Amino acid sequence: MQYISTRGQAPKIGFCDVLLAGLARDGGLYVPETWPKLGESAGGAAVGSAKNSAVASYAQKAASIMSPFVGAEIDQQVFEKLCTDAYSTFRHPEVAPLVEIGPNEYLLELFHGPTLAFKDVALQLVGKLFDHVLTQRNERVMIVGATSGDTGGAAFDGVASCRNVDIVMLYPSNRVSDVQRRQMTTLTAPNVHAVAVDGTFDDCQDLVKAMFNDQKFRDANQLSAVNSINWVRVMAQVVYYVTAIEKLGRTAVFSVPTGNFGNVLAGWIAKQMGAQIEGFVVASNTNDILTRFFESKQMVANVVVPTLSPSMDIQVSSNFERLLFETNNRDGAETAKQLTDFRATGKLDVVASAYRKWFEGVFVGRRCNDEQTLVTMQDVYKQSAILIDPHTAVGLSAARQSAGVDYPKEMPMITLATAHPAKFPDAVRRATGQTPMLPEHLADLMSRPERSVSLPNDLGAVQAFVASCRG
Ligand SMILES: *Cc1c(COP(=O)(O)O)cnc(C)c1O
Repeated sequence: MQYISTRGQAPKIGFCDVLLAGLARDGGLYVPETWPKLGESAGGAAVGSAKNSAVASYAQKAASIMSPFVGAEIDQQVFEKLCTDAYSTFRHPEVAPLVEIGPNEYLLELFHGPTLAFKDVALQLVGKLFDHVLTQRNERVMIVGATSGDTGGAAFDGVASCRNVDIVMLYPSNRVSDVQRRQMTTLTAPNVHAVAVDGTFDDCQDLVKAMFNDQKFRDANQLSAVNSINWVRVMAQVVYYVTAIEKLGRTAVFSVPTGNFGNVLAGWIAKQMGAQIEGFVVASNTNDILTRFFESKQMVANVVVPTLSPSMDIQVSSNFERLLFETNNRDGAETAKQLTDFRATGKLDVVASAYRKWFEGVFVGRRCNDEQTLVTMQDVYKQSAILIDPHTAVGLSAARQSAGVDYPKEMPMITLATAHPAKFPDAVRRATGQTPMLPEHLADLMSRPERSVSLPNDLGAVQAFVASCRG
């Protein structure tokens, strides 16, 4: 399997190079040359996902579903071992259990990993892959990234034990929860560095993009990325859409709490690969650029407003570029032009015919403000005695708005539960009066000493810091 850039100007590369590169040299994102079908392994032989699905572990299924994307670059048995190591860090044996909470209403619990957010599903595997590939190549990299809260902790946990990786994560100061911040600032591993930037998440993301677009700096520091623009993150998330449908045994709609569009894009890929998925509810909080896009076929950027679901406080969803590339029939030049214009004007239109072909009947957008978020958390607690986090609540509210309107009432709706309630205790307490408990391995998180650096929203200052962190 070879990978091409959504902007059409970077050379084709294989899986391991895509893993390490993150962003393509032309500023685009890597996508596989073709979308494989489920059940096709790298060698073309049918793999076990259908046959022994009931007995295979999540890790085995994951290895089999992802193998066409990895291709021949990593031996299949080695890859399966890396998956097994990655998913053994999860507290639930099923890794991503499907829980029925009402008639045709399900939660897909993705928060049983070490840092309590769905990002662990991808980043635990990414950490194992980095270690494997860098050890083989005898190389060292500097991972830089931006986090709206959950990526930072999950990325640190994923790579803290990698011998050949240093990592710097930028986060918007005062816009992440105490638990999120502490998951970044309390690690003692010498190769991880949390940086509070005086700005928003989009500012942090822009700083990271600027570092990558500075070729001299990029090469001198061996920059690498594990943000959701990294293909391997998206790839790892395809797996639980497939396993959820397999568990359910029939078609369903997924409601996905969305920020950077990585998670819902993974669902769309699972559908491309042949998973029996009816469609997607793209759930946004008050930062509803995607909902407005699905309503108007036009993307218009706004300012970011802080909400109870900070990991979705994003206006420019970077992974949307991968879908845009498809709507342009994989024309990289056209995609690059649209995105450059979007940068300049803050507006992006998709022509009606492309919209009908790629979006209609597949995606609907729904929004949920803070008040609806709290009401949804309260309702679920009253109905089922389940505590859900505010991001999951946005997804569930969107699913409930959509059920019986966009889809028949009998259609199963699976909301992705993207974070553990204990990650956002203040919102949970406000909604339900209950204080969710942190799992045992994090019980003393709030009393561990913190270590973090504060920097202005300034490229020069950030670059100087990154350069000083190379091990
Ligand atoms: C990152 C995150 C999201 C948004 O996911 P995207 O892939 O960026 O769309 C939603 N909920 C939680 C808890 C997250 O950490």
